[in-house]
Amino acid sequence: MVLEKEFYKNIVDNLPDGIAVCDSDGNIIDVNNNFERLTGFSKEYLTGKNISVFIKNSKTGCDKYAQEAIMNEDEFQKPKSYYIGELTDKEDKLTCVRINFSTTKDNKTIYLIIPLAEVAFLNRAHIDFVSTVSHELRTPLTSIKGFADTLLSSGSRLSDEQQKRFLSIIKSQVDRLTRLVENLLTVSKLESKKDKSIYKAIGLPKFFENIIYSIQLKAQDHKIKVEIMPNLPPVWADSDKFEQVMMNILDNAIKYSNTGTMIVVEAKFVSENTDFIEINVKDQGVGIPEEHISKIFTKFSRIDSPLTRQVEGTGLGLYITKSLVENMGGKISVKSSKEGSTFSLILPVATHEKPTQRKF
Ligand code: ADP
Repeated sequence: MVLEKEFYKNIVDNLPDGIAVCDSDGNIIDVNNNFERLTGFSKEYLTGKNISVFIKNSKTGCDKYAQEAIMNEDEFQKPKSYYIGELTDKEDKLTCVRINFSTTKDNKTIYLIIPLAEVAFLNRAHIDFVSTVSHELRTPLTSIKGFADTLLSSGSRLSDEQQKRFLSIIKSQVDRLTRLVENLLTVSKLESKKDKSIYKAIGLPKFFENIIYSIQLKAQDHKIKVEIMPNLPPVWADSDKFEQVMMNILDNAIKYSNTGTMIVVEAKFVSENTDFIEINVKDQGVGIPEEHISKIFTKFSRIDSPLTRQVEGTGLGLYITKSLVENMGGKISVKSSKEGSTFSLILPVATHEKPTQRKF
């Protein structure tokens, strides 16, 4: 199958690197979108200019970045031939960049340019992830080891009651580890795009009946009300993913609100759009401060508050939830105040004839 030129152009334009193709004298023949963004110049302006106008060998200013970016990079990620240089933009601002180049058979040179701050940022995200996971694993492991050691060394001197208490702490820490590992596996599957979805039409009344049944033990100290608009058509989703999404949102609504308060689950059409259904989960909980709203959907983000410290969590739930929803062609958002939070989920309606996955 011959792929369209448009298809390759799309790939090249979406690469994180700036790309410039030059002739044997270094005159620019073509650039991608990112090269335009990095320099601030349009393709029309750049074409025909010499690449040496825009990239130069590094002066000492780049060394700090270069060292951090390159030292932290995995061997397999490193390009084979590159040098550290400076890119000049429209405002004469210099950016430290890694320049990777290769020459084609017909003597053209392709430059791949990526700002070192971005390389350093990606590496830092990787290092942060490993250190957070290690910390999350170590905390329950330390507690399990401590209580198991005590039971082994002085179990016979402890009362039955104390032994039971220590064993139940060990059990709850093992459960916590299991949840963390399960979450990490979900994250890894989602990020490697290895997971497959099985879509079908899911009728909401039956679906929510099952969800409320599964969550009843956790929700026993809350009031949960489900309001589904009459004659609402089914949604088009993967039922396991949809279930995981709803369980995560409801689990949070319960965890982050006081006992005795009300949680309302509401399903209706997105206003003026009968192709999509909106599901709102409203709680009367502690709310999410404005400055944290944008962060809660990122990995390992937990708001540091007395309540969050009390309730158990990994900070992965909403990251997974958002990825699952977007994976199914939907959207998730949140509105929050001191009176509580509303998480809104949008999913496509299942159509009768050949339902294709639509994006909101
Ligand atoms: P966690 O495992 O910590 O619950 P999540 O990714 O599910 O992780 O949520 C991230 C953070 O967002 C939580 O730690 C909490 O601070 C905040 N949060 C999530 N849902 C709610 C809610 N319904 N009300 C208030 N805060 C919430």
